[in-house]
Amino acid sequence: MGNKLLNPKISGSPNPLCLHTARWVVPVSGPPIENGAVATFGGEIVRIGRARELQSSYLAEIRDYEDSILCPALINAHTHLELSPLKGRLSPSGSFVDWVRSLVEARSHIGPEEWMPAIKKAVTEMQKEGIIAVGDVGNSDLIPRLSSKVDSNWPFRGIFFRELVRPLASENETDLDMPGANTIWIRDLHCPLRHSFSGHAPYSVAPSVLKAIKAWDQGHGLPFSIHLAESGEEIEFLQTGMGPIKELLEEKGHWPLGYEIPKTSPVNYLDRLGLLDKDTVCVHCVHVDQDDISILAKSGSSICLCPRSNIFLGVGIPPVEALHASGIPLALGTDSLASNDRLSIFAEMACLSRLAPGLSPAVIFRAGTSGGAEALGISEKWGTLAPGKAAIFLAIASGPIGQRDVSEFLVHEGAKGSANWIIG
Ligand SMILES: [Zn+2]
Repeated sequence: MGNKLLNPKISGSPNPLCLHTARWVVPVSGPPIENGAVATFGGEIVRIGRARELQSSYLAEIRDYEDSILCPALINAHTHLELSPLKGRLSPSGSFVDWVRSLVEARSHIGPEEWMPAIKKAVTEMQKEGIIAVGDVGNSDLIPRLSSKVDSNWPFRGIFFRELVRPLASENETDLDMPGANTIWIRDLHCPLRHSFSGHAPYSVAPSVLKAIKAWDQGHGLPFSIHLAESGEEIEFLQTGMGPIKELLEEKGHWPLGYEIPKTSPVNYLDRLGLLDKDTVCVHCVHVDQDDISILAKSGSSICLCPRSNIFLGVGIPPVEALHASGIPLALGTDSLASNDRLSIFAEMACLSRLAPGLSPAVIFRAGTSGGAEALGISEKWGTLAPGKAAIFLAIASGPIGQRDVSEFLVHEGAKGSANWIIG
């Protein structure tokens, strides 16, 4: 994808009034508009509607994209760009814990000169795939430093989650010194990513630490994120304190834990800790039952689905139709190149459509756009085409689509088409 790649940075000079017209406009905030137009001025969308109406309302330069589909840029709500050098180095093992072991091992063999070129390549790939914003998770400062460099042409908005893995903290520890909170990259105004903290998973971070992370995020008006209910091993460990995850913790010297095994589901556990609310992004949620779904729905938390990663790891498939039916807001993520061969939200949409045929294409496309923007708290500017949103969006060169539903085309063919960036 991507026969024309523009760096989607907002220019400093005022952009003139412009009408972008095309056979289809898919605003996501409303139904698709045939022969539609998007009016932009000064870097913002000012109106959308039928081309004929907007042309009679505005004296503006017209840019016609003919048989294309204008739609919001995509949101990758969960990835780990710093793991990009692991692309192709890990094979699906059938065991989540074995995959974690091989990830840690492979990561230790990456040479210092390999990190940045692989990360930059992944950044370019995501740009070509029409992604404007990320929920990027990392344990190092590679991404904060790259994204805050003025000359790096860093293209993404969104959140960098500094991920904590800390299974052994004492239950009494409440006043955490959040590492990184006072470093320069947290406050760097040049960095288009906001910086938050995330907990790795319910089994790898002590409950007191999880609560402290959530409190820090809440206090800064930022989303909290956590891998949740990803594997059968996680369910077994939280219920019984046994299984491959216990063995892994023992190997790492993290056993015995300084707290009680919760003996419940991961979702119920987080709910008991008070971690689930509308600003929490639960990543994966493969192993959830109806009670878990009810808890999640009541909490207002978003779920970020990463279907291609789930398939790669063989951890199972989330009950997507039931999650959607309960009203839980859905977002989409690629996870990292250690468990995926692409960083493409279009590819995740096509995969999700195969896994969950009961989900309409419009719902799936919403997950990859406005669902991600809402989960990351950036929906004021991103995720839909509507007045007041940033005038940076996509033109998918579709050719005539005949009688096909336009959302269905985007979900199934988006990854094969050609995406151009429009900056109005
Ligand atoms: Zn992840």
